[in-house]
Amino acid sequence: MLPRVPRLSTHSAKLERERLNSLINSMADGVIALDEHAKVVLYNGAALNILDVNSSMTDRPIKSVMTLVDKNNQPVDIKELILSTKTSTSSRDWRLEYPDGGTINLYTSIAPVRLGYGQSGMKGYVILIRDITREKSLEEERDEFISVVSHELRTPIAIAEGNIGNTEFIFEKSGISNPGIRDALKAAHDQILFLASMINDLATLSRAERGKLAVEIEPINAHDMVADLATSYTKEAEAKGLEIMTDIDPTLELLQSSKLYVREVLQNFVTNAIKYTEKGNITIGAHPRKNGIEFYVSDTGIGISKSDQQKVFDKFFRSEDYRTRQNSGTGLGLYVTMKLARLIHAELDLKSEIDHGSTFTIFIPNLQ
Ligand code: ADP
Repeated sequence: MLPRVPRLSTHSAKLERERLNSLINSMADGVIALDEHAKVVLYNGAALNILDVNSSMTDRPIKSVMTLVDKNNQPVDIKELILSTKTSTSSRDWRLEYPDGGTINLYTSIAPVRLGYGQSGMKGYVILIRDITREKSLEEERDEFISVVSHELRTPIAIAEGNIGNTEFIFEKSGISNPGIRDALKAAHDQILFLASMINDLATLSRAERGKLAVEIEPINAHDMVADLATSYTKEAEAKGLEIMTDIDPTLELLQSSKLYVREVLQNFVTNAIKYTEKGNITIGAHPRKNGIEFYVSDTGIGISKSDQQKVFDKFFRSEDYRTRQNSGTGLGLYVTMKLARLIHAELDLKSEIDHGSTFTIFIPNLQ
């Protein structure tokens, strides 16, 4: 005999519905359930508040209650957007426009669902909306602040760096032997260089986050770029007893991309490789791939644990490993790298084994 399937009595179905209603009405986010034609089936009080609607929305097309515009103030076809959603997606980039022309920044999450029970339930969508105007304006203020401060700090830091460098040079030439002064000058110089690179990262970061980074495409001679990098960092590497090697495929052709960003990305990899390697060598390589070039920087350094490998491209992430903490750093370099890589449609990859070393790879496609 088949087991009996418990049926909901009318009373418990009503109770169930009331529970559901009170649950979604207690939510701070706006919730709107739509049928397969993007018409409203269910919604909560927060949705009415955010959309600023004061009559029933049931059965109304979503288009008639919610007008979205994108970053460039272009209207977004919300019905089309919803009907084309195949998996749950969210965005923080749209704004809701009210009939009087006012707008707010909106967080939206659209999820295709089955409304009702089981497989036979009607197909539909659930939209979650939240007013993020305040958060967005705080983010913009923060980015503006970082941009102004990093810009203002550049000149004094450059002047201080120049003067300390000159003083070191004069002291060296003076023939005075005073290790105390020499070490103090070197320490001051190192710190000011660190400050300069941090300000540089912050400035690039704030421009990247404000979408203010222009991509200027030009022909890049990858061979020269790798050879140049190796020469520029040889002194720094040798000071730690490390050797820099190159592995350049002789058949490389000119690459069409942003020279500035490709160089900055590779520089970040090389400076990290030097920082996080205690003995051995660093290899900078370039190989042709279909429609682009793959660059890599590998080291024989401290390596990155499996769990940290997921996080190294996150903003401000630095490994807890004590050997990482022995070196100064901001945790911004690889985050900036990731932002720049996205701008030039490059793909990043990392292979690493703790205590054996790391290889950071970037595939740069030809643009245009
Ligand atoms: P920073 O070097 O300023 O800390 P990054 O964003 O450049 O910041 O790198 C983030 C973290 O990733 C580093 O703090 C370090 O833990 C890890 N990391 C990056 N490159 C390497 C490397 N070549 N070897 C080992 N660890 C690395």
